[in-house]
Amino acid sequence: MSTESILNRALGAYLGFAIGDALGATVEFMSPQQIQKRYGVHQEMIGGGWLGLEAGQVTDDTQMSLAIGQAIIDHQGWNIQAVADNFVAWLESDPPDIGNTCRRGIMRYRDKGELFGLPRDDDAGNGACMRNLPVVLATLNRPDSFNKWSLQQSHITHNHPLSDAATLALGKIVNLLIAGQDMDVCKQEAEQLVKQYGEFAYHPYQGKASAYIVDTVQTVLHYFFNTDSFESCLIATVNQGADADTTGALAGMLAGAKYGVEQIPKYWLTQLDQQVTEQIHQQTQGLVRFAQLS
Ligand code: MN
Ligand code: MN
Repeated sequence: MSTESILNRALGAYLGFAIGDALGATVEFMSPQQIQKRYGVHQEMIGGGWLGLEAGQVTDDTQMSLAIGQAIIDHQGWNIQAVADNFVAWLESDPPDIGNTCRRGIMRYRDKGELFGLPRDDDAGNGACMRNLPVVLATLNRPDSFNKWSLQQSHITHNHPLSDAATLALGKIVNLLIAGQDMDVCKQEAEQLVKQYGEFAYHPYQGKASAYIVDTVQTVLHYFFNTDSFESCLIATVNQGADADTTGALAGMLAGAKYGVEQIPKYWLTQLDQQVTEQIHQQTQGLVRFAQLS
């Protein structure tokens, strides 16, 4: 696999992630019926939604990912304190949105210096899983580092076995896609997750797309495996509504890694916040370079 095609898929994953976030945010917390009534099929990156976003603006999903990616690049390696510090700086920057579990964990670190919380039943949201792509990109050839870094960044805010399992499984699938593996290999990886925790079974699809990590993963895997282009995957996912920015981001991540950056529609690429686009280009190059040198 050439460096060029690895970079292309990695960039597809990161841009696809941000595009899914910006596209889905418009319909976050809506039901599929409400979306249909209001938009027909929602497919334009028009902003709005409950957060009142600008067109192309991203939310916490992308911002927290960028915070992790920047910590890895700035320290040329893993520095969990730097990740947590970047989360604090982000929290204090008055972000458009922040999940309750993320807020609680970041404030615990800020106020007590604790880098992880004790396991809690209500930590099974998707907030840790959603921001792990930079770790995947920085550890492409190092599965041990991938596991350790993924769990450490997760546990700053979320400490739950279902969150952990999903974060690792989706990260491994992205890694396989960036390495050029086909859908069957990815499905086997998804089956491993279902074998580990039967809750994640995504066939037959139940139609739930909430921020509960089980619902999120079912939705993302269902639409990723049942569509055949970046565009169709993303449109189907966000029109399921509920936590549409996060399901959109994670589906866009998988689809972007699979289909590559040139298959992302230009009309989405140009609508995406250009400052975010620039940061994603820089981070992708920095993280993949780091992965190849380490
Ligand atoms: Mn969000
Ligand atoms: Mn969300």
